[in-house]
Amino acid sequence: MPDAPYSQLPSVDRLLHDAAVAPLVSRYGARLTADAARALLAEARAHIAAHRALPVWANDWATALQRTLAERSASKLKPVFNLTGVVLHTNLGRAQLADDAIDAVARVMRSPVTLEYDLDEAQRGHRDDTVAELLRDITGAEACCVVNNNAAAVLLMFAALADGKEAIASRGELIEIGGAFRIPDVMRQAGCTLVEVGATNRTHLADYRNAITERTALLVKVHTSNYRIEGFTSSVSEAELAALGRETGVPVASDLGSGALIDMSAYGLPAETMQQRILADGVDLVSFSGDKLLGGPQAGIIVGRADAIARLQKHPLKRALRCDKITLAALEATLRLYSRSDQLPLLLPTLRYLTRPQPDIAQAVERLLPECRKAYGASFHIDSAPCLSQIGSGALPMNTVPSQALTFTARDGRGRTLEALAAHWHAQPKPILGRIADNRLWLDLRCLDDESELLAALRAARQGADVRCQKPEIR
Ligand SMILES: *Cc1c(COP(=O)(O)O)cnc(C)c1O
Repeated sequence: MPDAPYSQLPSVDRLLHDAAVAPLVSRYGARLTADAARALLAEARAHIAAHRALPVWANDWATALQRTLAERSASKLKPVFNLTGVVLHTNLGRAQLADDAIDAVARVMRSPVTLEYDLDEAQRGHRDDTVAELLRDITGAEACCVVNNNAAAVLLMFAALADGKEAIASRGELIEIGGAFRIPDVMRQAGCTLVEVGATNRTHLADYRNAITERTALLVKVHTSNYRIEGFTSSVSEAELAALGRETGVPVASDLGSGALIDMSAYGLPAETMQQRILADGVDLVSFSGDKLLGGPQAGIIVGRADAIARLQKHPLKRALRCDKITLAALEATLRLYSRSDQLPLLLPTLRYLTRPQPDIAQAVERLLPECRKAYGASFHIDSAPCLSQIGSGALPMNTVPSQALTFTARDGRGRTLEALAAHWHAQPKPILGRIADNRLWLDLRCLDDESELLAALRAARQGADVRCQKPEIR
């Protein structure tokens, strides 16, 4: 009876009217449930064709459907374990928000808020006033402008100050950040003409001075976030450029990328340029990201002189690039934490991860080691090894902080075995992301919040792997 297994397959219609499936229809809707049923039926037919028997899961269609629907409707934004060793990982959403920022976001999402409403005057207020005073206090700037991200901030500075005119920048600073963000291209988009001065490795103040004409509208300084020129080099400082700007009446703008609102060296970290220092040097406008070292939401923040900021605020692009109440609430709550600098590493996840001492991380590795060996020791050598975490996101890119990792080396010595393990971990409900280097899979525990959660995930993944090997038909 070769057709017998096929004849046991239910129809889509019968499945949809099954009492056990009714709750799924009401939760996921009839269309998605029917789609999932069709997919499962196709899978069952393929299984019968190959094995001449129904798959094991076909004895409980409702459960199989439930699993399929849950998988299909899971969010595309999956929380992951970031054990890559990159703290501010752009592809993983950069900074994790502080609890205060998360609470603030939830509050403003649930209610109308005074985003552009001045209660005292009963008139229209300005949304950037949400953070203006905080930014003034922290950086010493006269005014601020907040937009979608720092790329937008740079675009807006060029467009508002130099559209139809010339902007002078050093050849050593015409950087590409990634994702097609290149300073020359952004200037073209903003309608300004780039005047390149100096050489790749050396630019002098006279180079800027000699390039200034009546068409010059802006002197530009760009933080070379993600690369470094070493050897026979020289560049012009913000203070020198600002002095030239004052002397010639040309505004000076600095794209700082990340910057740091606090002295990172006070926390034992590599020093990063501080916004307040650049402003004190006399630069008119400084732009930076909200989700790099600042540790807040994605945003582009421009601080500086009130008259220059007013030109940005009046530009039509500002309306296109402005932030919503969610971003502004998160940014406000994050900036408020900066007044408690002694507790900042406790309150701000980015700083908490960056300042976590290596011995602390090494102890976490030691605690996990025995259980990991139990679960994975048959196929892998598992060790504790020192490594270097990266700060990431072009913030202090060349600077690393010493850390410690759990490392997995395949007993069969094959790179494919490591890749298969990494892929299997990626497929977990909460994916575990490490990195493969030197024939090992590294799990840098610097950014690990909950050891028992990771251990449970690693154990569950191990069991899943066993099940898959023995019974390939189990879904
Ligand atoms: C990161 C960076 C940018 C882009 O900032 P986003 O917030 O990612 O848009 C621009 N310029 C520099 C120098 C940077 O480091």
